[in-house]
Amino acid sequence: MSREVLLLKAQLKERDEEIAALKHKLAQLEKNHNSVQELYDRVTPLTPLTAKTALSNEDIMRYSRQLLVPQLAVQGQLNLSKTSVLVVGCGGLGCPLALYLAAAGIGRLGLLDYDEVELNNLHRQVLHGEENQGQAKALSAAQALKRLNSTVECIPYHLQLSPQNALQLIQQYDIVADCSDNVPTRYLVNDACVLSGKPLVSASALRLEGQLTVYNYHGGPCYRCLYPVPPPPETVTNCSDGGVLGVVPGIMGCVQALEVLKIASGQRTSCSQKLLMFDAQDAKFRSIKLRPKKADCAVCGEEPSVTQLVDYETFCGSAASDKCRRLNLLSRDQRITVQEYKSILDKAEPHLLLDVRPLVEVDICRLPFSLNIPLSCLEERKLEDVQLLKRRIDQLRQGRSGDFQPPVYVICKLGNDSQKAVQVMEKMSGSEVDAVTVKDICGGLMAWAKTIDSTFPQY
Ligand SMILES: [Zn+2]
Repeated sequence: MSREVLLLKAQLKERDEEIAALKHKLAQLEKNHNSVQELYDRVTPLTPLTAKTALSNEDIMRYSRQLLVPQLAVQGQLNLSKTSVLVVGCGGLGCPLALYLAAAGIGRLGLLDYDEVELNNLHRQVLHGEENQGQAKALSAAQALKRLNSTVECIPYHLQLSPQNALQLIQQYDIVADCSDNVPTRYLVNDACVLSGKPLVSASALRLEGQLTVYNYHGGPCYRCLYPVPPPPETVTNCSDGGVLGVVPGIMGCVQALEVLKIASGQRTSCSQKLLMFDAQDAKFRSIKLRPKKADCAVCGEEPSVTQLVDYETFCGSAASDKCRRLNLLSRDQRITVQEYKSILDKAEPHLLLDVRPLVEVDICRLPFSLNIPLSCLEERKLEDVQLLKRRIDQLRQGRSGDFQPPVYVICKLGNDSQKAVQVMEKMSGSEVDAVTVKDICGGLMAWAKTIDSTFPQY
């Protein structure tokens, strides 16, 4: 054979090898891709998780640094691989939690979220990327976790946990992590965990603070033992109202992952009957001991009155969603739409626009002609604010007949606080300030941004 033929043959062999390698890579990618393609929109029975009897060489390589930790060791790693964990909520807590559980080699992860990825999630929900906007969070999370560890079985559920599906779902998992940060969901998850005998690792985060407790574990209290009655809904602040620094749920989700891993690997949790509190401002963790299990607890007590799941939105008086809550405190004639307000502006009708959001929100954006008095200052009747209000109302009255009642339109972000402010203003009208006609602008500045001025920022 000539040298040329030999050379070509060698090149051909090289190409064949390259093609084979590419085919292998493609098959691997397709396998990973297909295995998470299915997005569950309802709860279906799962096949039992098969228990590994020994670690493979690949397992040993992947987990070598944690296998060297005496508290975990080989048996702990095998225990992780046969444990399934349900993550309720793939947001600010659920993302870091699921990330570390997948990295550590948990056998199966149920990833539940009814929501889609939005731009304002990305500062804290670190499994999702810009390209995932609009995608179901459960699927986006499952895909990210598969990239990290393809040996972990991920089951994405695009659905809302409800009294109808919670028991069937939770019964199929060994440990439940509540990352919903929502009061009705917390009671629902707690009751379902008690009824199916599963430990519940629950965390929350707001602004610069976080909390964590493990419920229903080895005779410890459940959530209802400690909080038999839900808090009044108006006292509950969520992240979309109160804000949160992304790293704070990140830290709490990591502590949550740690407690799940301790339980799953066969160690005990340190957070049963304890409240772990994190203060990000002072960089301090504190732990306080909680009351033990209550003999007369409604769900885990000796004679429980709750023996099946109930309607938790009614029980708590609030929605099982962290999306905007809609209050309805006023009658139709006490409110105007943003379109009606726009035509008042267009006609240059004299009025006062009162923006009752906190200053931190006013700094983000405002309508230039508004007067800003936060609802809390209005409720407290802060002297300087009342005087400011008086002056502005006086200005509107100038040159008009004595019975003219200047119109005051109240606005906030979403139209909840503004309704409360209308009620406060109505009490003040004619006594603390001159008589005015007060109306709420329905849907607030976010409705303004959506329907009137698309250049106005949404937050
Ligand atoms: Zn209880």
